Amino acid sequence: MNILERYHAMEYGPAPEARNEADAWLAARDFSKALFIGGDWKAATGGKTFETSDPASGKLLAKVSDAGAADIDAAVSAAAKALPKWSASSGYSRAKVLYAIGRSMQRHQRLFAVLESIDNGKPIRESRDIDVPLAIRHFIHHAGWAQALDRDFPGHKGVGVVGQIIPWNFPLLMLAWKIAPALAAGCTIVLKPAEFTPLTAILFAEICERSGVPKGVVNIVQGGPEAGAAIVNHPGVQKIAFTGSSEVGKIIRKATAGSGKKLSLELGGKSAFVVFEDADLDSAVEGLVDGIWFNQGQVCCAGSRLLVQEGIADAFIAKVKTRMSRLRVGSPLDKNTDIGPLVDLTQLDRVKGLVAEGAKQGAVCWQPDVALPSSGYYHLPTLATGVSPANILAQEEVFGPVLATMTFRNTEEAVELANNTRYGLAASVWSENVNLALHVAPQLKAGVVWVNGTNMFDAACGFGGYRESGFGREGGREGMFEYLSAKLPLGPVIKPATASAQPVEQAESDAIDRTAKLFIGGKQVRPDGNYSIAVATAKGKLAGEVGLGSRKDIRDAVSAARACKAWPEATAYNRAQVLYYLAENLSGRADEFAARLTQLVGATAKAAREEVELSIERLFLYAGLADKFEGRVHQPPARAVTLALHEPVGVVGIVASDNAPLLGLISLVAPALAMGNTVVAVPSEKYPLLATDLYQVIEYSDVPAGAINIVTGRTAELAGVLAKHDDVDGLWVFADVETCAKAEADSVGNLKRVWTGNGRSLDWASIEAAGDAFLRRAVEVKNVWVPYGD
Ligand code: NAD
Repeated sequence: MNILERYHAMEYGPAPEARNEADAWLAARDFSKALFIGGDWKAATGGKTFETSDPASGKLLAKVSDAGAADIDAAVSAAAKALPKWSASSGYSRAKVLYAIGRSMQRHQRLFAVLESIDNGKPIRESRDIDVPLAIRHFIHHAGWAQALDRDFPGHKGVGVVGQIIPWNFPLLMLAWKIAPALAAGCTIVLKPAEFTPLTAILFAEICERSGVPKGVVNIVQGGPEAGAAIVNHPGVQKIAFTGSSEVGKIIRKATAGSGKKLSLELGGKSAFVVFEDADLDSAVEGLVDGIWFNQGQVCCAGSRLLVQEGIADAFIAKVKTRMSRLRVGSPLDKNTDIGPLVDLTQLDRVKGLVAEGAKQGAVCWQPDVALPSSGYYHLPTLATGVSPANILAQEEVFGPVLATMTFRNTEEAVELANNTRYGLAASVWSENVNLALHVAPQLKAGVVWVNGTNMFDAACGFGGYRESGFGREGGREGMFEYLSAKLPLGPVIKPATASAQPVEQAESDAIDRTAKLFIGGKQVRPDGNYSIAVATAKGKLAGEVGLGSRKDIRDAVSAARACKAWPEATAYNRAQVLYYLAENLSGRADEFAARLTQLVGATAKAAREEVELSIERLFLYAGLADKFEGRVHQPPARAVTLALHEPVGVVGIVASDNAPLLGLISLVAPALAMGNTVVAVPSEKYPLLATDLYQVIEYSDVPAGAINIVTGRTAELAGVLAKHDDVDGLWVFADVETCAKAEADSVGNLKRVWTGNGRSLDWASIEAAGDAFLRRAVEVKNVWVPYGD
């Protein structure tokens, strides 16, 4: 072969990474004492162990302690014991510890990378150049947040003991995403790695020992689902941070319902990789290789659905196939390897099963003619064409090297296809026209959008999903909030409503009888069931009647809220003006509302007047903040800017309590509206007439039809319907403790974002019952990465 032939053949020999350091490390450890609890290495109670093996050969690497409930208990106790001192330590001292961890990891970078590749099967190029450097960057970045807490998060403090559960696909990186912000916030930690990949977490615990982490601040317990469940259910844990499958995420959502535990869920995805006809096709092919074959496709945000514009589809697919034929499948420790083995035989079988099922459902599955190593859990890169939107390969997270391809004709169809999934983690948009890309990015229901790129991550930029990809963000400012809490001013405990609190005496007034209807889609409508409930005055007389809303009415209200595009698409300035106008019109009827409060609640004239005035003031506040609670621009260490955009959550259900029935309702509805959400409100069960009076104000305040919908009726029942409704994106419940817990448990269908008062109302008159804490709950942060340079 001459040089030219060699050049064209692009053949190169193996370039194995040495593993002797890693083998020496493995040989020197007693993995039967692999639980790092309170700064000591412990065996699991009863000496139980599980095996971890090398997916490239199937060979046993270690038998590792398998924690049970008693071990989790010990770890939580150690974390609780260490909490007071750690949380009271200065930001500077915590920053020094975080920095020391980062530096120490840098010194052992290669060992981390090799161990990660041996344990997980990921190509060394990836663990060496991506996983490990990003993990280190996370610790160094968060050293800064530890010191900036008072400056950037005034009034906040660490949530306490946190339980963290991570998957096997990025063992060290996910550990870093969890531990770094928790340490910065002053929390203490019980972390459980996945049972397939325990090794780098053990090395990390050794780094903690050497980096001045006080005993008990970081506890790392090894084990499987049982150990995970014991962490989730432990009463001594104040927050659960979980990364893993949507299925387990839903179990955890249910298990923590009503516990008061803070929760963040980073779950699965089915991300779209959208190629427009004006894209640079060669770059897009390279992006796609990274998007779907990085880490064998075992990536939550893998671009597993290729959507390509019809006119270029054939040419693009041909290029993809050519590139696939050149992918090198082989040993993870070979520096030339593009695709290593899957993590385990069970995962390989799962992927094969999904591919077979996809083919049965009509997909044409193509694989390059590449030889597979004789041992190990390898799966060839696979391209599925002829995939219908309902095909299992288009809908299910395969978590393997399998790409499902579909075509689209125009931008609208691209957006529709991209959003045709229950997930919402990430998306890539490829077009040389930045106007088009930035027009499409906000329309994609995904927490991260990469323009002309893929898999860009940074510690300063939040990462996390919409819909069933979970809630909460990791990284950056928004990630820090997940480990912090701010005290809201508590109001009274809310008692469950009793239907027997019915008025018995007829009203004395001779006014014309008027029954307030529901307010749905901008119209006053009769309740579907045609039942009404009586509303009593403070003296027990009949004040009026309101419609008894039902499941059907909530459904209609949700449809109306979903159909209202004018509000979320309005400019923030426009929304501000409408909210100001609402305030103005409420002010014009202030006397009437004050009289109503006195009549129903029995408030003194002065107190009633104050509640009305505060309600007007609050509308004014959120009108003013509508165009001020904005996103940010991050400058990550890459040739890219990241636009952290604030987007509305979507349709938000709001359940208000009897405490301050006007101000309480407005304090919740106004911030949701200010950020562009549409609202289905269930007002106070006892004093609903304040809300039904309010819709008369809404009607002449230029609020678009469907932006605010009001359904009166029984709080517990209507909250339950909202919680179960899969087209409700967010739910805020201020009701009795049981209704709050049930709302959380019932929200698992679409994993809507639920915020409850846990059976307590807020002191709505307090200045702290307004502002950023509310606006933050009214938005999703979408990070749009825009690279620059030629
Ligand atoms: P998994 O849900 O099976 O397991 C994740 C972790 O949860 C493991 O540590 C496991 O031991 C533990 N676990 C299992 N059952 C549990 C239970 N009932 N209670 C408590 N803990 C339990 O997921 P996996 O197969 O390890 O990982 C793959 C999944 O992770 C994929 O769906 C992927 O998309 C997701 N993931 C998401 C992100 C993200 O940031 N969104 C990142 C990486 C991976």
